[in-house]
Amino acid sequence: MLGVVVGALRRHEVGAHEEFELRVAPQDLPELGLADDLRVHGRLTNLGEEGIHAAIDVEGAIARECARCLAPVRVPVRATSEETFGASGPWTSIVEDTLDLEPMVNEAVLLEEPLRALCRPDCAGICPTCGKDLNEGPCGCTDDEVDPRLEPLKKLLGPREEKR
Ligand SMILES: [Zn+2]
Ligand SMILES: [Zn+2]
Repeated sequence: MLGVVVGALRRHEVGAHEEFELRVAPQDLPELGLADDLRVHGRLTNLGEEGIHAAIDVEGAIARECARCLAPVRVPVRATSEETFGASGPWTSIVEDTLDLEPMVNEAVLLEEPLRALCRPDCAGICPTCGKDLNEGPCGCTDDEVDPRLEPLKKLLGPREEKR
């Protein structure tokens, strides 16, 4: 829960607004996998009967793995989002004068998630045969050489193991 108290704002006139600043630690929103603290800046506007309008911008970074070599990657995140939170009705999102911004912040951050995080655009990845990180240099195996060499080895080792 990322609660923001809006009780005082709702007792103000329609159109009244206030700003807030939150620092969210990675353990507060564990499902996001934040790399470090997320800064949330927001502006809340009282819409009277219609509730509260929230506009936020978030800034921080998420920790991911490179899709090619699995090295840790820090993906910077910068996003804005807007939403109106109803004060009454079937989907009341303001409970006891507190507005929970967690779903809104989660969505804003996850929309920035890259489909494939890469440690660098030209990451060479890891060799599918020997597992060596090819960013550190070539591993020496090529597809043509390795497979024929491994086939006879398998034939020799297979039956021997079964006899034991
Ligand atoms: Zn990589
Ligand atoms: Zn290799």
